[in-house]
Amino acid sequence: MRTPFVVLLAVLAMPAVAPAQADSTTGPDPIAQLVARLDLERYKATIKGLTRLGDRRQGTDRNRAAVDWIEAQLKSYGCSNVARLKYEYQPPSSPSPEGRGGQGVRTDERGGQGVRPAAGGGRYRGIRAQTGVNTDSLKQPDARVRALDAQPSTPGAREEVYCTKIGTTHAGEMYIVGGHMDGIGWGEAANDDGSGTALVMELARVFSSTDVRTDRSIRFILWNNEETGLNGSRAYVEQRRALQGTKDEPKWLGMIQHDMMLFDHGMPRADGTLPPEQRPEADVNIEFQSSAKFAAEAEQLAWTFERANEKYATDYPASVGSHMTNTDSAPFQDYVPAISLRENERGTQIGAGWDPNWHQPTDLYATYGDNDFRLGLNAAQTTLAAIAGLVGATIR
Ligand SMILES: [Zn+2]
Repeated sequence: MRTPFVVLLAVLAMPAVAPAQADSTTGPDPIAQLVARLDLERYKATIKGLTRLGDRRQGTDRNRAAVDWIEAQLKSYGCSNVARLKYEYQPPSSPSPEGRGGQGVRTDERGGQGVRPAAGGGRYRGIRAQTGVNTDSLKQPDARVRALDAQPSTPGAREEVYCTKIGTTHAGEMYIVGGHMDGIGWGEAANDDGSGTALVMELARVFSSTDVRTDRSIRFILWNNEETGLNGSRAYVEQRRALQGTKDEPKWLGMIQHDMMLFDHGMPRADGTLPPEQRPEADVNIEFQSSAKFAAEAEQLAWTFERANEKYATDYPASVGSHMTNTDSAPFQDYVPAISLRENERGTQIGAGWDPNWHQPTDLYATYGDNDFRLGLNAAQTTLAAIAGLVGATIR
């Protein structure tokens, strides 16, 4: 909550021409108008709708019900060509263990130069706390959530849903905007990744409005099977990459992933716990992968998003990093410029225990406050504004 003094400073710091204001030569800025159609309460309501289906774990009835629910929402928004990608999923015989850090351990006590780099290639700094996936149902104290998440996953047929805003002049070229709808950990997967799923759905809603026109196309995809190893996005790349440029698949211009959008409370404290409030310095972390084949183009795309955030996001800034990893944009990164947006850097921060609810029974809708939800909304404003510029969006 801002104090009146801070509000006064914010007013004094406003630029002479705010983005939403009309320009006398070109008329109102359509991007500002589109961003204004995003709303904190709507974003929260979509996350809440997803959490009614528990953790939405892949290979369960609750996961299939979530795909159906998302599809119904996309149709209700008027999003075009709602479709499903189908694939088979067989779990590996021995699942790979999740990375673990120590409890409140200082990185520099772990051997200085000998420290293993974080996933994605970054360096750990400061204090690290334990991470991992909860697999114990009894760690969920709420009997209602425990019952919702009880059905185990079974191997076999999988589906994931997408829809497309069709461009007017270059329909055969598209940006792909994604989040993953499956979760794990015996909670409600509210942040991981209800927050990214709802963001993508909200963008589908805004762009599908009948008065919005775009030159190029945008595909909105809600991946399944992210938590088992990006299997849903890998299946999409395998099935559709070679179809690009045909009537069945527009050419990919870029892929933007959203995964864990809410929680940026800072570094763990010495005892391994996290501060209870969103830190005032919270930011949206935009990452590309410096080892990708399209690293240079992805870096340029990341800065396009950073500039869109600077101009249009209402509360939180964005920062750019080069260690994108462990997310559904990775299968795309050698074929097209690919970036991810998150609450924190995936490798060096989330991987170091900066999100204590990650894959835990505490990843519940009720865990988060408005300052958390607002970080996700600011990521939505960032992607909406950047994509609107890239596809040439206008309002009739
Ligand atoms: Zn995730």
